[in-house]
Amino acid sequence: MGTKDNAVLDQGFDGIEPMVFESQISVPYSWWAGDTATYFLKGLRDEKKIRALKCTSCGKTYIPPRKTCPVCFVPNTEWKDLSGTGTVQSFTIARRQLAAISKKVPVIYALIKLDGADTAMLHYIEGISPEKMKIGMKVQAEFAEDRKGTIQDIAFFKPVKEV
Ligand SMILES: [Zn+2]
Repeated sequence: MGTKDNAVLDQGFDGIEPMVFESQISVPYSWWAGDTATYFLKGLRDEKKIRALKCTSCGKTYIPPRKTCPVCFVPNTEWKDLSGTGTVQSFTIARRQLAAISKKVPVIYALIKLDGADTAMLHYIEGISPEKMKIGMKVQAEFAEDRKGTIQDIAFFKPVKEV
C-alpha cells in the first residue's frame, strides 16, 4: 500500500454515516466429535449413561468429559458413570422466543453439578415453574425416548421428587 492510500485511511470516518443492515447467514457444517465425546455421546444414546472422565493426578472429575485435565495437563483416563442426579449451581430463564431456542419459552437453563463430578454442565430444567427455581435444588436427568447421540439425549433435568 502506498503513501497516498495511507493518507486516505488517516482521514478517518468524518462525515461518513454508519449504515447497519440486518441479515442472516446459514452455515451448515459437521465436525468429528473425537474419541472422548463419541464415547460420552454413545453412552447417552445406547445405555442412558452419563459418563465423566476423571484425572488420575488431581482427582477432578469432568463432565462433559475432557480428554486432558486443564489443571495437570495430563490425559484423563479413568471413566466414571454418574448417577444422573445433581445440584443446580446457577440458572437463567429465557422468555423471548429466539430462533436458537427450539423449545417453547419460557425455557430454564441451568448449570448443574452432577453428583460425583467437579464441574457443572449446562442443560434445560423442566417440570417446575420458573418462579419456583432455586439455586441448590436437586435435579435428575430425564432421557429422551428417541436418542440420536447428542447432548439432547438427555431431554432435560427435572426436580428430584421429595419423599
Ligand atoms: Zn488433574
